[in-house]
Amino acid sequence: MIILKDCRELQLMRESGKIAAGAIEKAGQVIRPGVTTYAVDKALREYIESHGAKPSFLGLYGFPGSACISVNEELIHGIPSHTRVINEGDIVSIDVGALWKGYHSDTAYTFAAGVISDGAKRLLEATQECLRRGIAAAVEGNRIVDIGRAVEEYATTQGYSVVREYEGHGVGRKLHEEPSVPNFVTASRGPRLNAGMTIAIEPMINEGTADVRVLDDDWTVVTADGKLCAHFEHTVAITGNGPEILTAL
Ligand code: MG
Repeated sequence: MIILKDCRELQLMRESGKIAAGAIEKAGQVIRPGVTTYAVDKALREYIESHGAKPSFLGLYGFPGSACISVNEELIHGIPSHTRVINEGDIVSIDVGALWKGYHSDTAYTFAAGVISDGAKRLLEATQECLRRGIAAAVEGNRIVDIGRAVEEYATTQGYSVVREYEGHGVGRKLHEEPSVPNFVTASRGPRLNAGMTIAIEPMINEGTADVRVLDDDWTVVTADGKLCAHFEHTVAITGNGPEILTAL
């Protein structure tokens, strides 16, 4: 069931989203060559808790970190680690959410550590553009599939592939609510978008094949061919005045 949010709930989700967005900004300040992913995670946890919220991911389904931190060929669900040092030229995806007064937010950004290759830069720009286009399609009267179409069309024209095993989702009192928000065209067009829906749109784009696999830690999702991948995400409210990005700064 899709849970629509009223004005009061939307306001709480805005506040929640602002904290998650601030955590992403914090990550941008902390990520640099030589820093461990654990140190980044700790900084995000402190940021979120200092704003009176809880990290949405901490303990969710047993996840041990406050944020998912995934480097290079790691797509999502990377576990923060004392031994994982960020190197010059890495791309580092931060996926983080805040639980504030009962409402979650969910956002992701892939950062460059130091100077990255032109190929990596192009991938980050294209994935960000996929997110922009997905959000632009999140208007009342459209269907969920219109978001996936916008993402997939752009990714494909840029020569990239779209991960099919993982997708966006509704967000609210639970981090993962209905509906699913695939980043590609599905046979089912999905539900119609109505004002009051709050969804996480999160393109996951690969340089090479679309195939991914899960590492032995049972969490980290990596590209099957070891090539780079990127992930950007915003929590978005469908409103009568178009999409409102709740996790914008
Ligand atoms: Mg998400």
